[in-house]
Amino acid sequence: MFAGSGPKPRYVIPDVSELQLLFAQYNNEWFGGEIPTHRIAYNARFSNLAGRITYKPPLIELSPKHFTHRPEALRETLLHEMIHAWLYARGQNPGHTAAFKQKMRQLGLRSIYHDLGSAAPRRESEKRFILRCERCTMELLRKRKPPILISCGRCSRNRYDPRYPLRVLEVLDVREVEAPRQAAHTLGTT
Ligand SMILES: [Zn+2]
Ligand SMILES: [Zn+2]
Repeated sequence: MFAGSGPKPRYVIPDVSELQLLFAQYNNEWFGGEIPTHRIAYNARFSNLAGRITYKPPLIELSPKHFTHRPEALRETLLHEMIHAWLYARGQNPGHTAAFKQKMRQLGLRSIYHDLGSAAPRRESEKRFILRCERCTMELLRKRKPPILISCGRCSRNRYDPRYPLRVLEVLDVREVEAPRQAAHTLGTT
């Protein structure tokens, strides 16, 4: 690390190709290579999410801003999402089950709460589908898969425009980051 009295060096988060290598490495190291290929991406629009995994298409998205001060949290979040993917690939319940927690312990992950200092478990959401416009990155959440093709309301005018389709993603897990409990408590008592 750096000595001296300058500002604390900021951790530079790995770029996407490094993330892809990390995924491959962890997959071999901890999961016997059983997890099918996932695309790993950053999603800078996440505000209260540290990570999210969808299985159709297989995609793990990570929030860059939650990791700039906590490099270890990136590894933990990626491994956490990979456990979901691994259970799903094995045909097991991909939720936070006993098997999930057993695997966590094996990997040395401490809790299902994302240890970002301020994290709480995700709220179980019934909204399992994300409709996303790749052009403006707007996202809508839905309980059900839309029965017809729809296009982005922001990018298309009034009628369906095949140039701006909303892509449907099926969510396997999201990790929410919430305000620290202590802060919430302070707010509530002042
Ligand atoms: Zn759009
Ligand atoms: Zn999870």
